[in-house]
Amino acid sequence: MFKGILIEKDDAGYRANLSELSEDQLPEGDVTIDVQYSTLNYKDALAITGKSPVVRQFPMVPGIDLIGTVTHSDNDTFAVGDSVLLNGFGVGEVHWGGLAEKARLKSDWLIPRPESLTPKQTMAIGTAGYTAMLCVIALEKNGVLPGNGPVLVTGANGGVGSYAIAILSALGYEVVAATGRLQEADHLKQLGATDIIDRNALSEPGRPLAKEQWAAAIDSVGSHTLANVCAGLKYGGTVAACGLAQGFDFPATVMPFILRGVTLAGIDSVMRPLNDRIEAWQRLGQVITPAMIDAITNEITLDQAIDTAEQLLNGTVRGRVIVKVSGD
Ligand code: NAP
Repeated sequence: MFKGILIEKDDAGYRANLSELSEDQLPEGDVTIDVQYSTLNYKDALAITGKSPVVRQFPMVPGIDLIGTVTHSDNDTFAVGDSVLLNGFGVGEVHWGGLAEKARLKSDWLIPRPESLTPKQTMAIGTAGYTAMLCVIALEKNGVLPGNGPVLVTGANGGVGSYAIAILSALGYEVVAATGRLQEADHLKQLGATDIIDRNALSEPGRPLAKEQWAAAIDSVGSHTLANVCAGLKYGGTVAACGLAQGFDFPATVMPFILRGVTLAGIDSVMRPLNDRIEAWQRLGQVITPAMIDAITNEITLDQAIDTAEQLLNGTVRGRVIVKVSGD
């Protein structure tokens, strides 16, 4: 038997509980893993609370990220004892995920842990850091260089936002952070932001074109914020859009695209091909320092994950939450 968070939905309602599970209940897969760490992302919080229909099969173990050690493998790529990492691929949504002491997974979804990172550091980065790096790579591929001007990061105190600031700053970009928590300004500056703006300046309907302010942006907020970001980009700017913390709508006009050549680069981390994942994780291993990780991360235990999910959706959690599932 092993412990895990189980989400159930039936006539008794939608509920998540820390439960005793047996290996017979694990889903199909060719690799079995002892999970060391998982994380709590916005999507996991939605799954645990049931506030959005993230989970598409019941019962479900949530947790879109995990790192652990292989204990059984029917696949030649991975051997018993290997340290492996997983982000996305519908894990925690349609296949049991990382918020349990054991997981059974498809080997196609796994990548080896980057050598320069410990298991805990890898999960401290997790989907949030990996998505932030995919956003940065998208900006680079669109020709955004550190000398081009400031890069705006929205949702600055969140997991994606915190890593986006830290990575951009480490690569030499000037970073403007948009946040609803101005009291965290010193923390955001410690991560590498040079300027802080109030997110309220972006969250209401704005003009189709605004003053050209930012060379590029990383947006994890969506809705009016993303529309205003597009309207405020400099000529030829790019926004990497990855989130919907304000809303999934996009009440914008085409004006920034057709008059200023703005590019809207959509970022999905979930079904991202393996080569892109490996590139992003290699870059993370080079750029992220232990000090950055310490500044961004909070650690909790499996039995604190359900309560913390509520806090995360209430916007009271700063940075990344890693979940210690079993020892290190
Ligand atoms: P998170 O830690 O909860 O951070 C979200 C941040 O957004 C909050 O800390 C807050 O920052 C800001 N925010 C919250 N509500 C807002 C509102 N109503 N208006 C404006 N800003 C608001 O979540 P996360 O894990 O970083 O994820 C961020 C978003 O990216 C989520 O929508 C998530 O689903 C998405 N995501 C997508 C992918 C992908 O593959 N595309 C991968 C990872 C995450 P401040 O307090 O600083 O304002």
